[in-house]
Amino acid sequence: MSVLDSKIPEGPLKDKWTNHKNHINLVNPANKRNIDIIVVGTGLAGGSAAASLAEMGYNVKSFCYQDSPRRAHSIAAQGGINAAKNYQNDGDSVYRLFYDTVKGGDYRSREANVHRLAEVSGNIIDQCVAQGVPFGRDYGGLLDNRSFGGVLVSRTFYAKGQTGQQLLLGAYSALNRQIAKGKVTMYNRHEMVELVKVNGKARGIIARNLETGELERHSAHAVVIASGGYGNVFFLSTNAMGSNATAAWKIHKKGAHFANPCYTQIHPTCIPRSGDHQSKLTLMSESLRNDGRIWVPKNMEDVLAIREGKLKPIDLSEKQRDYYLERRYPAFGNLVPRDVASRAAKERCDAGYGVNETGEAVYLDFASAIQRYGKQEAAIARMESPSDEKIIELGAAVIESKYGNLFQMYEKIVAQDPYKTPMMIYPAVHYTMGGVWVDYNLMTSVEGCYCIGEANFSDHGANRLGASALMQGLADGYFVLPYTIGDYLSNDIRTRKISTESSEFVEAEKEVSDRIEKLMNIQGTKSVDHFHKLLGKAMWEYVGMARNEEGLKKAMSEIKQIRTDFWNDVRIPGDKNSLNPELEKAGRVADFLELGELFAKDALHRNESCGGHFREESVELDGLQKGEAKRNDTDYAYVAAWEYKGEPADAVMHKEELEFNDIELKQRSYK
Ligand SMILES: Cc1cc2nc3c(=O)[nH]c(=O)nc-3n(C[C@H](O)[C@H](O)[C@H](O)COP(=O)(O)OP(=O)(O)OC[C@H]3O[C@@H](n4cnc5c(N)ncnc54)[C@H](O)[C@@H]3O)c2cc1C
Repeated sequence: MSVLDSKIPEGPLKDKWTNHKNHINLVNPANKRNIDIIVVGTGLAGGSAAASLAEMGYNVKSFCYQDSPRRAHSIAAQGGINAAKNYQNDGDSVYRLFYDTVKGGDYRSREANVHRLAEVSGNIIDQCVAQGVPFGRDYGGLLDNRSFGGVLVSRTFYAKGQTGQQLLLGAYSALNRQIAKGKVTMYNRHEMVELVKVNGKARGIIARNLETGELERHSAHAVVIASGGYGNVFFLSTNAMGSNATAAWKIHKKGAHFANPCYTQIHPTCIPRSGDHQSKLTLMSESLRNDGRIWVPKNMEDVLAIREGKLKPIDLSEKQRDYYLERRYPAFGNLVPRDVASRAAKERCDAGYGVNETGEAVYLDFASAIQRYGKQEAAIARMESPSDEKIIELGAAVIESKYGNLFQMYEKIVAQDPYKTPMMIYPAVHYTMGGVWVDYNLMTSVEGCYCIGEANFSDHGANRLGASALMQGLADGYFVLPYTIGDYLSNDIRTRKISTESSEFVEAEKEVSDRIEKLMNIQGTKSVDHFHKLLGKAMWEYVGMARNEEGLKKAMSEIKQIRTDFWNDVRIPGDKNSLNPELEKAGRVADFLELGELFAKDALHRNESCGGHFREESVELDGLQKGEAKRNDTDYAYVAAWEYKGEPADAVMHKEELEFNDIELKQRSYK
């Protein structure tokens, strides 16, 4: 038997979660008051979990490295959050959300988890509305919805292009209420740098106070990791600059298996890279694909003329444009899932049709939508023969009301007006579907250590559909973990406060202190960013949008070399006993340098294409799907969970076979 027990409950799919909740053990309110829980992370997952656990009566210690919980990366989420409410009466249902998510993830996720996610999705919206989250509403005052890629219904709730911000403010106010009540102790500017295990169970963490440099011991009956994704292993990504893998990697090294590290989402609509000195990429929300049409010129002469500045995109007629997504995928058009849209953009740019100087950009054009909305508004206002200018003015106002902040952001960065000329976009690293392996209860392979939100290997399989990360993070934090953690803690009600004086805490603290000492003593010649950039370059080149055996082997050996060089030649100025952002970064990059190699190893072993993982050796060669990714269900329908064994190259894989009883495995077609 596999060492991985997913603990998926028995029974029919639709009853599993309800039956599980009905039968798991509970902790009585008086006992909850004696139980401590550490939650690392205050994004949507950690913030909602900490607030809910405290509300239930547990004593919560909450950690984040920012100066305030509400600066977690979740604040940046733009486009929306899915829920199967069927407010549009367009045929949505819990089953359809479940089905779309499993199919969108290219049949590499657990059916039971995804069904649970779809079941609780509606509760999330009710919870957030009750908190006062100002979701977009339609003319009549009802909650509005829009569409995201990979689905044929409108189920995405949104707050303009600032959905994450509004949701996080909701979770943050719930958290603050518990801080004020004394049920949550908040540790801002604290970074978890080690997990402490006592008798095999997670019993605490070592955290570094980022302002004083002091190492602190914190104990609890259980530890929850909600530290977000690891997209910054690529150096350039749409993630917040501080997003990192340290908390997840530290628990991996203490026994938590790391699942499917190679499953990364490369988002199709980001502002293209402008040069080598950039440190961040900016997302243009997928919601824009509701109204924007993606194209490149049909003719190479036009491409060259545009690049040389002799021709403007708006000068090209419809006939001279190749709306390649609409051409290749007539059923889903511009709303194909992200992995499909990204590969299609790469295919056009690789063929030479990229429209900017680097040849890595395609157009996202709103002219048709502006016309369509303008005419609609003119009809509503009963205008007779409105001028072209009037129609454009009315249409632009509708676009502004839907996506105004995104258009403003684009104009500020690119210095072009997207109401007047198409946006330029290109794929960029955005989200990591891989992460810490968890069972159905969200417990990792370390007893008492849980992992939620983007940090776990999640419910998204090999590709995440838009607007489902916020759904998953909040489902985990508000509606799943608060139930499942009780089942574990009910066996711990006789355990008193955990002492931080035990040898396990002393040793863990010493491990951290030795590691910091070692980093500070290198005093080499290169900055931390120097090594991070090298890592990112190797990752993008060999482990990016297209991967092959030769490149992946190269990536593994190059990353190993970069890691060796880092430990010999990195220079960290300042000292360890005060605020030192370079030291913080060095610790995080050291972990990325290990994770990167495991990432490539995982991609190398998975000799199939699925979701965001595209192996050049595994492509459909004939028929309607010619050129599309080719999945191999016979050999690879499993979760690959890696056990730490020292060097990343020595990690040992455990398989969790995926069983599909309610969904038939099919070739994923959006044609
Ligand atoms: C630009 C952008 C737009 C997006 N838009 C959408 C969208 O519209 N819809 C959608 O569904 N998804 C969207 N996503 C994805 C979504 O935002 C994230 O997946 C989600 O917010 C992650 O939430 P989280 O709570 O898991 O982690 P995060 O929000 O990343 O929070 C991580 C927390 O962990 C803390 N932390 C990390 N490590 C440590 C440590 N070692 N010690 C102490 N604290 C630590 C941090 O301080 C932080 O509080 C978007 C992502 C990006 C990049």
